[in-house]
Amino acid sequence: MEKKILLIEDEEKIARFVELELVHEGYQVVKAFNGREGLELALRGGFDLVLLDIMLPELNGLEVLRRLRKESMVPVIMLTARDAVMDKVSGLDAGADDYITKPFAIEELLARIRVAFKKQAGGSQQTHQLTVCGLTMDTDRHEVTYGEEIIELTNREYELIHTLMKHKNIVMDREKLMNTVCGYNYVGETNIIDVYVRHIRSKIDDRFGIKLIRTVRGVGYVIKDE
Ligand code: CA
Repeated sequence: MEKKILLIEDEEKIARFVELELVHEGYQVVKAFNGREGLELALRGGFDLVLLDIMLPELNGLEVLRRLRKESMVPVIMLTARDAVMDKVSGLDAGADDYITKPFAIEELLARIRVAFKKQAGGSQQTHQLTVCGLTMDTDRHEVTYGEEIIELTNREYELIHTLMKHKNIVMDREKLMNTVCGYNYVGETNIIDVYVRHIRSKIDDRFGIKLIRTVRGVGYVIKDE
């Protein structure tokens, strides 16, 4: 069956060019010219891959990705401006599968797309679950459970636990946590993380009698696997 690709790119010339090449390769292509429209289409689902520009009107690419990842694991390749190292790091942190730097050769893009599809095919048997301290996180369903009980979390609480579980046994400092949980553009005190940790402790530790997030004095937080 034809693979369906969503192309979110505001520069019509580039979008048109990429579309022609992808169609020529046998892909089906849907275009969106701003972040808001792109996110809406992506959330509606039915795409095998999303090509996502970062500099977009209405909603930038990183924000599109962040919101999309709360609901969908569709492979995403970011289209970044040259030398925008921060964009690449933020994009990968926010859950992009790959990125390609503009201007790119179409052959390189096609190769990246094939790699993304191959990875997806190989990974389709896996469930996206993380388990630690008896707590299970299902990243496909965006759900955290302890035993049979589903734990209600805000998005930021979820992101905080997710980050610490992904890097279990590694102490994460507040600033790193703040960047992943609140976004790189967030301006505020890092003690916002302490507030989220307190909320999580009252929702999880107090309720189930476990010690999930440990404080490492003067450094940050860690979830240990034991
Ligand atoms: Ca752009």
